[in-house]
Amino acid sequence: MEDTPIALIKNLTTHYDDVEILSDINLHVNTNEILVIMGGSGSGKSTLLRHMLGLNQPTSGDVELFGQDLKSMRMQDLCNLRQKIGVSFQGGALFNSMTVGENIILPLKEHTKLDDKTMQIMMRIKLEVVNLAGFENLMPDQLSGGMIKRVALARAIIMDPALLFFDEPSAGLDPVVSAELDELILTLKGAMNMSIVVVTHEIESAMKIADRIAVLDKGKLVQIGTKEEIRNSDHPRVRMLINRIPENIQPDSDEYMERLTRENNI
Ligand code: ADP
Ligand code: MG
Repeated sequence: MEDTPIALIKNLTTHYDDVEILSDINLHVNTNEILVIMGGSGSGKSTLLRHMLGLNQPTSGDVELFGQDLKSMRMQDLCNLRQKIGVSFQGGALFNSMTVGENIILPLKEHTKLDDKTMQIMMRIKLEVVNLAGFENLMPDQLSGGMIKRVALARAIIMDPALLFFDEPSAGLDPVVSAELDELILTLKGAMNMSIVVVTHEIESAMKIADRIAVLDKGKLVQIGTKEEIRNSDHPRVRMLINRIPENIQPDSDEYMERLTRENNI
């Protein structure tokens, strides 16, 4: 089904201050596909996601969602359009002073006039979808890392979005919990007809859930293709990602120091 892509990025270049963070990115998301955006830490994955949501303005280039160019949209139209989009940010971004249930209901309170009872029912349905039925009265600090991600996911899908963004679902999780999240993402695609963009640096997870994989390296899109195309790629940066074995995940100490000082502007 190759009709209008649900998201389209054309020649997108962006900077933080004077530093180019993304260079001339072109990609699209098809209806009902899972596109995985892969790349090492600092390659620009989260930044790309923020641009796809219209949260950041690019230096040049365009983003279209549901066939509409974000640049030419009025604020109100952009707000309406965002209601068709769910986002689970890196780290979960739950409000610590609210219960699990209150966190999940937040978008409904903001965007709908549903009565409280209906909202409670919708919240419980979504908790069930993410396998956390009965957990609505817990506080975020009572949850494990995997549970936080699942609550954030429940909040992201509370409005039944057509397009879901999920930033780093498996970061910081043990392999079993991370595999459970992969299963959950596949279930959402199948059962809820969503188009899903997943940002990850875990090749194993990407190979399990992706229809297509886009590989970012230092702000450049080095390759986009099916799992097979990526697996058989002879691009050196893609090969590095694929051949990464667990003990190689930590950067060497020089690179690590360099990154720390750069990120803290020392
Ligand atoms: P990833 O999600 O792939 O780890 P990011 O998109 O978070 O990468 O970051 C890409 C680059 O942009 C990194 O070098 C990072 O230090 C820098 N960066 C991210 N956010 C900001 C910001 N708000 N201001 C300045 N630089 C930033
Ligand atoms: Mg990130």
